[in-house]
Amino acid sequence: MEYYSSYITKLVEQLGSLPGIGRKTAQRLAFHIMNMPKDRAEALANSITEARNHVRYCSQCFTLTDDELCPICRNEKRNHKVIMVVENSRDLSAYEKTGKFDGVYHVLHGAISPMLGIGPNDIKLKELMLRLQKDVEEVIIATNSNLEGETTAMYISKLIKPTGIKVSRIASGVPVGGDLEYIDEVTLLRALEGRTEL
Ligand code: ZN
Repeated sequence: MEYYSSYITKLVEQLGSLPGIGRKTAQRLAFHIMNMPKDRAEALANSITEARNHVRYCSQCFTLTDDELCPICRNEKRNHKVIMVVENSRDLSAYEKTGKFDGVYHVLHGAISPMLGIGPNDIKLKELMLRLQKDVEEVIIATNSNLEGETTAMYISKLIKPTGIKVSRIASGVPVGGDLEYIDEVTLLRALEGRTEL
């Protein structure tokens, strides 16, 4: 495979290791980058380094943010008594885009998966339980409707039930196995409004 520069080979390898990028796409991107003006290529590389160095977890909801608290957790107009639990920051932004949810979030950064060896301690679950010691009225579980998402939802509801806090699950209008971020806003709204108490 050494038809071209070893630098390009390395770049193709790096790009190809990203999710959803096959070898062909990696090659196309690598050559595209080679044809970029040098300063644009540098800006691209810098934005990766800077994002990786400066982005951190919000100390409350654990979404990715620049500061100690994310803009949603900082916002006093949001209803801090209603917490929507999502698997990742992309799901959070999908719900934010609907503009209809005025509560706050909790980002788990994954879902329980016995098959992949991901247990309750590998996601931000303890952190969620700590938050529930404050004044919380409802926890809406908005994990994906695939096996891992459902397993996680069941696990969380069992944990929360004894506390007396209302636990609900978004309606399963969300296609099975579908990543929340790819679902349109209408479907998300319907899923949120049609949530059922667990
Ligand atoms: Zn936050």
